[in-house]
Amino acid sequence: MPKSMDEIVSLCKRRGFIFQDSDIYGGQNGFWDYGPLGMLLKRNVRNVWYEDMVDFHNELVAPNGAPEAYQMVGVETALIMHPQVWKCSGHYDLFHDMMVDCRESKKRYRHDHIKGRWVTGTHKKNEEAGPETVFITAVDSEDVQTDLDANALRYFGLKKKYLEKLDWEGETTPLPELPEDKLTEVVGPDVTSKGTLTEQREFNLMFKTTLGALGGEDDAAFLRPETAQGIFVNFKNIVDTSRVKVPFGVAQVGKSFRNEITPRNFTFRSREFEQMEIEFFCAPDESAKWYTFWRDKRYQWYQDLGISQDNLILRDHHKEELAHYSVGTADIEYAFPFLEAGEYGELEGIAHRGDFDLRSHTEGKLKKEGDELVVELDEHGQPKHRGSGKDLSYFNDETRERFVPHVIEPSAGADRGTLAFICEAYHEDEQPDEKGKMQTRTVMKFHPRLAPIKAAIFPLMKKDGQPEIAQEIYGALKAAGISCQYDQAGVIGRRYRRQDEIGTPYCLTVDYDTADDNCVTLRDRDSLEQERVPVDQVVSEITARLNG
Ligand code: ATP
Repeated sequence: MPKSMDEIVSLCKRRGFIFQDSDIYGGQNGFWDYGPLGMLLKRNVRNVWYEDMVDFHNELVAPNGAPEAYQMVGVETALIMHPQVWKCSGHYDLFHDMMVDCRESKKRYRHDHIKGRWVTGTHKKNEEAGPETVFITAVDSEDVQTDLDANALRYFGLKKKYLEKLDWEGETTPLPELPEDKLTEVVGPDVTSKGTLTEQREFNLMFKTTLGALGGEDDAAFLRPETAQGIFVNFKNIVDTSRVKVPFGVAQVGKSFRNEITPRNFTFRSREFEQMEIEFFCAPDESAKWYTFWRDKRYQWYQDLGISQDNLILRDHHKEELAHYSVGTADIEYAFPFLEAGEYGELEGIAHRGDFDLRSHTEGKLKKEGDELVVELDEHGQPKHRGSGKDLSYFNDETRERFVPHVIEPSAGADRGTLAFICEAYHEDEQPDEKGKMQTRTVMKFHPRLAPIKAAIFPLMKKDGQPEIAQEIYGALKAAGISCQYDQAGVIGRRYRRQDEIGTPYCLTVDYDTADDNCVTLRDRDSLEQERVPVDQVVSEITARLNG
């Protein structure tokens, strides 16, 4: 049965995973807050990513599929960088959408999201004026003609039964394809008068801010729309100070901001989100091999953490889709429940960026001309956006060669990843309750490394010394740094269900036998198997299972 996004969103709110930001003031579109459990889950996603990519990576041994051994280091760079960074990275010129505003409804639309069609009809209230031809529009959807029908009926003031009185002409056409001098004949998607849409204009997706108390236009700066640039501008610093040698990678986790026009689908498209990015620097002639290595490694990572291959695809971009600097790009995409069957949403992009970034930050913003990357010039023949002038090339002291490294960039979203892990974990099954009656159980089957709470400890009864033993076990698990909960409220079945719903992999129950055999019952969330474990081995047993 397909999973219901509504159920998932409701569980996230009910159990304290994710809340709408500024909820008590009516919320803010595109911003989300992580509650006590969501914060733990997302922290685990970030930590597991960092451990698997950097901490656990052994730079002395080439992993399977890697052309050779490589080093990994991390950085944490500023959210507001020098404005020139965004000019040379291309975000300043290219990172925008074309928008149109409606003067009447005050709504703003992505230009390419509006579709329309010419139609001739007669106004119900003004039949004597005779037929009129207008360009009726609607926001693009699966069944845009149904919306166009409704909007045309509304425009002419007609009831549904008069639909056949409308005379449609030609095909449905995207608004950008309509000649601009016809704008006065366009009826906007949400109004009943024509000529209310403005001409298209650019809308930069970067959040602008001002530096300093007296700042004017010259002091404008931007919140970073990606973490990657913080790594590129520090390339020389890192090479000069950390004894890394190409090939090596630099990892960074942190917030990014994009003033998305249409934030939607829960946390999938937010205006503030977190990225987990690696810039991997390698010799140009090795870069194709490294691209394949990273693409496959990152695809495997999601599967190792429990995402089923049925819901995950690796999609290589077509040549036309590639950014102007890229030799190859692949997306890792997940079948989110809010999408139609067969559709996927991007979790991570792995891009071969060539030497575009390091050269742009040296020479000035580059553009592709034929097969070459050349500095983009303005109308006076000067560099459009000047680079730093700092040499960001690399000297290989073994081969005595100097070159600008090529870059492979696996760029993942921590929030999208967390959302995919939540959607994948969500399950409903039927289990008998205390009286043997079948009940629907909601269970979040998080991978133990990601589960926000790893273990729950219950005394079966609030008497006979059981709470004391349970509290001692709880203290020992806490002292070992294992995130756990103590719960003595309600019948045991209810306590299990509370933990299943937040994805706790192991529950430990102290019962009447504990006083005799010094063991507790360990219950596994997924297999529902129960085993007796000696009290003094609980910490080592849970640790082993979490690491296994
Ligand atoms: P999209 O096409 O969905 O806007 P993108 O291709 O612009 O994404 P990148 O610039 O490649 O995204 O960013 C890398 C990753 O950052 C994405 O794969 C995604 O996981 C995450 N990301 C990008 N934009 C957002 C957003 N608005 N909200 C949440 N995560 C995002």
